Amino acid sequence: MRVKRKVGQLSFRFQLEASLQGDVVLLEIERIGALNQRNLLADVNAWIRLLADANHADALLTCLTQGVRQLTGHERVMVCAFDAEGHGAVVSEDACRGVRSLLGMRFPNSDFPPEVRKRFDALPLRYVPDIQAPYVPIMQGSEPVDQEVRHDAGGLRGLSSRQRRYLQRMGVESILNMAIQGDSGVWGLLVAQSGRPHHVAPEIRDAAMGLVQMATQRLFLLKARAEARYRQQVQDSRDLLASHHAGLLTPADLLVRHGDDWQALFRASGVALVSPGVQETRGKVPSHHQLTLFRERLESAQQHGGPWYTASVSEEDLTHDLDLGDACGVLAVPMLTADKTRRWLILFRAELRQSHTWAGMPETGMLVVEPAGSSSLLERHQVWREEVRGRSEEWERIERLAAMDLAEDLAVMESAEEISHLNARLQRKSEHLREANKRLVELAHRDSLTGVANRYRIEQLMEEELAAAERYRRPLSVLLLDVDHFKQINDTLGHDVGDQALIALAEELTRTLRSCDYVGRWGGEEFIVLATSSDQVAGEGLARRLRERVEALEVPGLSQGITISIGVASWRKGDSRKGLVQRADEAMYQAKSAGRNRVQLAT
Ligand code: GH3
Ligand code: MG
Ligand code: MG
Repeated sequence: MRVKRKVGQLSFRFQLEASLQGDVVLLEIERIGALNQRNLLADVNAWIRLLADANHADALLTCLTQGVRQLTGHERVMVCAFDAEGHGAVVSEDACRGVRSLLGMRFPNSDFPPEVRKRFDALPLRYVPDIQAPYVPIMQGSEPVDQEVRHDAGGLRGLSSRQRRYLQRMGVESILNMAIQGDSGVWGLLVAQSGRPHHVAPEIRDAAMGLVQMATQRLFLLKARAEARYRQQVQDSRDLLASHHAGLLTPADLLVRHGDDWQALFRASGVALVSPGVQETRGKVPSHHQLTLFRERLESAQQHGGPWYTASVSEEDLTHDLDLGDACGVLAVPMLTADKTRRWLILFRAELRQSHTWAGMPETGMLVVEPAGSSSLLERHQVWREEVRGRSEEWERIERLAAMDLAEDLAVMESAEEISHLNARLQRKSEHLREANKRLVELAHRDSLTGVANRYRIEQLMEEELAAAERYRRPLSVLLLDVDHFKQINDTLGHDVGDQALIALAEELTRTLRSCDYVGRWGGEEFIVLATSSDQVAGEGLARRLRERVEALEVPGLSQGITISIGVASWRKGDSRKGLVQRADEAMYQAKSAGRNRVQLAT
């Protein structure tokens, strides 16, 4: 809040800033000097336009540090971003000529203790124009009431002696720090420093704060856009996968087709799909044996469905004694497949060699101390160099989510593949069954010696033909034929020759008949022929032809050949199967009596 007060003849303007600490309201009052408001507004607007045009985080932060430095006139303005462990890295900087650059330098998390970070949540701005200046006492009315209120409670007030020593070591005499607020707490700090006391008017601090807020919004918008682009890439990859559903690819096929894409998408050096007994891999992956061990450990360590990941396998209990080859980072996602055994989608990342320069002693790491310089902003007090080994890039949250999506897709595809596999197996089985049945039926219907229909089958066929004859008035003739003096063949030449004669006879009958006629073995050396659509005349014609052909037939082992006697009976309305066969049988016996090797029509 700004107020004007008359003191005697003169009028002064003040800026009031209130903050709450416990049940105490801390009110900080500052005098505002004369300032060219119009120029300030024009400058701020120009920088806001530049910020709004920045299309990349780096460009945006560069613009921010330049803008703030132009407004406040500090010797160095930098943006320090916090990593997951709370270390801060200088990601952007604008500084006076001659001031040593801290760009890329890292500040250990001990430089930003939790209470400091928490204060930035409540009060995003911290301004100390002169770190050497004595505290301004906190007054209640005209009495100082310093005991209950911490000296560094307000945004504008003094420093603790620890903080003062810290800044002095850096050669800093004045600071203006502003929080860059992310979704989950402080994302980073904008830090403005000078090597001498430096006052910044409240309006200018407000303007600088405005730029920081503007840049913060833009920064997260750019980040959201980059994430959306990544998500789209992931989605494209998933769509591509889904388009193969119809083809039902095995995991091995999938890896061949998409493995390279996935490696690019996840910045991975290798991909593996691992289940008990099966390993499909792409790119650089550990040996079969090591992968097996790794899967077993994952299986027992990771009971829930979430991913297991690390950027440093040598630091994890699960992996430190495994030989995972070149891999330093691992992201392993379980997939639940149809058969309930878990398969793992495992992504490997190679080492990312980095050299960090620390502005303070970090707790771990291999350090080389650089020679101490003088204590000014131009030369830093001391820096430590850390060679980072055995670490990969971190697995970003969005990458972990994408890997889980991918694993889910793969599990679905694999289930689909599994099911189609089972179906195919079932189908193959039922095909075998059908064929076995067919063979069985054929066996049941065939005479084993001659291969023609057996008596059971021929009776079936006869029933069908009789029904058709009845329904459509279609003529049907039955020919019953018996080999003449067959007993003699058996007796003189042996049973085998007799068998050969029966086989030759059946073949000849089959050859002579039309495809719509049937022949079957009625028993012994008797055969029966169903001549469909044949009346008595046609039936008799067929019988004569058969008799002639058999008479002319050469039978292996038989010098004289064989002859047959045939009885022909044609269907009459009301005929039963038995009746019809009986008449044919009677006719056949008449043929025998009449001297054999002849055809006899039934009366
Ligand atoms: P016909 O019919 O001219 O009166 O004289 P036949 O000698 O043919 O008379 P019969 O019907 O009494 O004899 C049939 C013989 O056929 C009796 C039997 O040993 C023989 N036989 C029956 N089935 C088979 C067989 O599958 N193989 C052989 N080799 N012989 C068989
Ligand atoms: Mg007989
Ligand atoms: Mg006979």
